[in-house]
Amino acid sequence: MEDDSRSETRTCDTCEETDGSASRRKEDETKEAFEDRRKLQSRLRRIRHKIVVLSGKGGVGKSTVAVNLAVALMMSGKRVGLLDVDIHGPSIPTMLGLEQETIHGSEEGLLPIDIGGLKVMSLGFLLRNQDDAVIWRGPMKMGVIKQFLKDVAWGDLDYLIIDSPPGTGDEPLSVCQLIGMLDGAVIVTTPQRVATVDVRKSITFCRQLHVPVLGVVENMSGFACPKCGEVTQILPSGGGKRIAEEMNVPYLGAIPMDPKIAAACDSGRALLGQDSASPMARAMNDIITQIAGDGTRDISSGQEPGGR
Ligand code: ADP
Repeated sequence: MEDDSRSETRTCDTCEETDGSASRRKEDETKEAFEDRRKLQSRLRRIRHKIVVLSGKGGVGKSTVAVNLAVALMMSGKRVGLLDVDIHGPSIPTMLGLEQETIHGSEEGLLPIDIGGLKVMSLGFLLRNQDDAVIWRGPMKMGVIKQFLKDVAWGDLDYLIIDSPPGTGDEPLSVCQLIGMLDGAVIVTTPQRVATVDVRKSITFCRQLHVPVLGVVENMSGFACPKCGEVTQILPSGGGKRIAEEMNVPYLGAIPMDPKIAAACDSGRALLGQDSASPMARAMNDIITQIAGDGTRDISSGQEPGGR
């Protein structure tokens, strides 16, 4: 019985042709797991580019970069989704002022929250009590991440930006494997040597998974004066650039430590949407030009996501 269904459920990854053999049930895959994978693939097929944002450790600004990258792409004229699967610290609802939002379902699946054209989905919307995730065992966490990825109804998107759990362990591994066909990873670090050591691990992680490294972003690189915006190097910087060169991956640029960024994150408004001439906005403009190429327009002329 099992073997019969296996041969009937052949499907193509890119066109849904049931005769195609691009994707078929794997030898060690249960029927249920295969159906889940097909469902996930059919959703992801409607998304042209998928970019995961990674960091070797927490607290380096991965979520801040993910939010601002998504906003920058949206302001440059793209249809963008932002997916927060950082199971231990889903901070995107706070950063975008969406903490009180609840998720609604439809026949299509879970509906992302639309803020002025940016579609946002976070595990934080489901994990009202974040302590829950801390005590979950590994397989349970994987199950939640998988279910979540499979059930979100994104519709058609140009870009999906995924805020991954930090590190190089099972959680980011599952995210990268489940999504598959990623365009690549943006790796976020701070300049200090202790953080850049982790960048090596993140680059190696991507290489092992055959995920292209789109580049390294050095966050909290220098200090931006809150009055004039001039950037001062108060601590050694350049570590991200050095590692990128050593490991032969692109260096995408630096974002200074900027009190306005922290305040904007805490107040629920991505900084880029507030001040398109800020150091963050300038850095993001450079980053999306490198990642998305000529298809983007300067974000200073773009429409910021509206509030709710
Ligand atoms: P991660 O996702 O790596 O754990 P977050 O993006 O949540 O890190 O950032 C951690 C904290 O640092 C947040 O409070 C955020 O507002 C702040 N932060 C991130 N980048 C900057 C920056 N360039 N300047 C000032 N504060 C920043």
